[in-house]
Amino acid sequence: MSLFWKQVLQSLVFGLVLPGILFSTVRKVPEAPVDPPTAQTQIWIPVIGEDGRLRAMELEDYVFRVVLGEMPAGFHMEALKAQAVAARTYTLWMVRTGDRHGGAVCTDFSCCQEYREPEAYLEAGGSGESVEKVLSAVEQTRGQVLYYGEELIMATYFACAGGRTEDAAVVWGTNYPYLQSVSSPETTGYDDDVVEVPVEDFLGALGCAPEDRLGSVIYTEGGGVASVSIGQQKYTGVELRSLFGLRSTVFQLDVTDDKVLFRTKGFGHRVGLSQYGSDALAQQGQRYDQILAHYYQGTTLGEVRND
Ligand SMILES: [Zn+2]
Repeated sequence: MSLFWKQVLQSLVFGLVLPGILFSTVRKVPEAPVDPPTAQTQIWIPVIGEDGRLRAMELEDYVFRVVLGEMPAGFHMEALKAQAVAARTYTLWMVRTGDRHGGAVCTDFSCCQEYREPEAYLEAGGSGESVEKVLSAVEQTRGQVLYYGEELIMATYFACAGGRTEDAAVVWGTNYPYLQSVSSPETTGYDDDVVEVPVEDFLGALGCAPEDRLGSVIYTEGGGVASVSIGQQKYTGVELRSLFGLRSTVFQLDVTDDKVLFRTKGFGHRVGLSQYGSDALAQQGQRYDQILAHYYQGTTLGEVRND
């Protein structure tokens, strides 16, 4: 076989692009593939698994498992959709700002967000119907995230506000225009928890003397304790919550002869979206986009951008 025909054969077998007009009738160069629609674009994020190993996961797969872990599937579909958008936005914000793990997220609720594999969910007694419902909430909001201007927001959320949410500035010391105190109409959730602390433990934890007396309690606009004066000292609600393991900073203090009683309402840091509040709003007929606009004031819902 001549060299010429060998080259023709190779070009057919291996699809090589050969120079010259000679082969233009033999082999046609295929057209460039068409880009898939933006909404279908996959976004891969670095996730640290339970074993501590880093792997790439598609954003929607991660968000589905977060919502499965974060919100009871019995909640209203519109609440689940609001949760899906909040979780997706918060996830991408963490990855892109490098806020945790230098730009990755993990599967530990005490660090990033709650995370549940569907298999584990079913094994723990969850129903297939619930898994389907959560998956549907994630798919119905696929690729949707929240922006403040051009920026992805830090879409924090929590279980239950106890009436109102809190300004981020009060809890974390930084002001975010979209994380301000708003009403939150929880009808169920975590009301009326009581924590009892023996007086000597209370004084010891705060470094106070037995003769120190409870002074004024100042409340925030969001209904949480801003500060409590004891003797000459002042403590913030956030400090007291952390020291005594309170569910939230919404508490009343009662002092008896030998005990200090904290009566709390709500559960969590109370900044951003309330999960129980979202369910209550959905029950009242609010759509997920309205719920999100309520808890994250001044934000807009948009498509995720691959940048
Ligand atoms: Zn983490």
